[in-house]
Amino acid sequence: MTAYIGRFAPTPSGFLHFGSLVAALASYLDARAAGGQWLLRMEDLDPPREVAGAQAGILQALDNYGLHWDGEVEHQSLRHAAYEELIQRLFQQGLAYACTCSRKQLEGTHGIYQGTCRNAGHDPHDAAIRLRVPELTYHFIDRVQGRFEQHLGHESGDFVIRRRDGLYAYQLAVVLDDAWQGVTDIVRGADLLDSTPRQLYLQELLGLAQPRYLHVPLITQPDGHKLGKRYRSPPLQADQAAPLLVRALHALGQAVPAGLARASVAEVLGWGVAHWDAACIAKVQALPEADLPSVSGLSL
Ligand code: GLU
Ligand code: ZN
Repeated sequence: MTAYIGRFAPTPSGFLHFGSLVAALASYLDARAAGGQWLLRMEDLDPPREVAGAQAGILQALDNYGLHWDGEVEHQSLRHAAYEELIQRLFQQGLAYACTCSRKQLEGTHGIYQGTCRNAGHDPHDAAIRLRVPELTYHFIDRVQGRFEQHLGHESGDFVIRRRDGLYAYQLAVVLDDAWQGVTDIVRGADLLDSTPRQLYLQELLGLAQPRYLHVPLITQPDGHKLGKRYRSPPLQADQAAPLLVRALHALGQAVPAGLARASVAEVLGWGVAHWDAACIAKVQALPEADLPSVSGLSL
């Protein structure tokens, strides 16, 4: 059996909020309860969308919340050579192609690329690079969500692996880096469920091992909106670490004892590791944040 290697892979387009804490905590507890490693990877692929100070703020928040990672932080911004080499290879093998479609041409396709440039033989410079997808259904068994499947041709279409402006796409980088770092277990937010089949296809294409997946239900606003996109909880405050960790344990369906409400960060995490039960997550589906037990002195 391979030793467990988990990871947290935040994007520095903002600071961590309660929703990201829930995902980070689940990933951390799952790794530690298995006696595994927990790695940290900064997914800084998109400098124009990066918020100043977010990288340092994320590391500081994880540290304040006792979520200590193993080894050095990896940065996707330092991995461009690996991404480029792969893209060149896929392009030369005819598995990827250049797409010159304008935003206007892509309108009305609901994000499912119709294959317009598939056989056009465009020059890859000043063009997006898309990966051809097979007309096949990819599926996996998520540890919480159960079976999830997607027909790549109908539900995704050929997808971008390098943008026209030269930025590398998340789908490509995440697959390459998880394999490069030896990640065996991916625990992340359910907003990435429908990216997973594309990632499975890339793993198959590149001959990479498929990790296990656990997608954590999203924390939503009372009106059903997901936290973290338009609506954001405030950045995680250092002085609220212990109560917010307790709240995050509730959000993950863990049977938190009342006494934990006044515990320290180390005690809360110690309890979490000792009692971690991933199966309980299945009982909590898209909890409105307001429905979580309130924590005294806490303003969200
Ligand atoms: N960087 C991605 C995000 O912050 C997560 C990537 C992943 O966990 O696969 O949404
Ligand atoms: Zn095109």
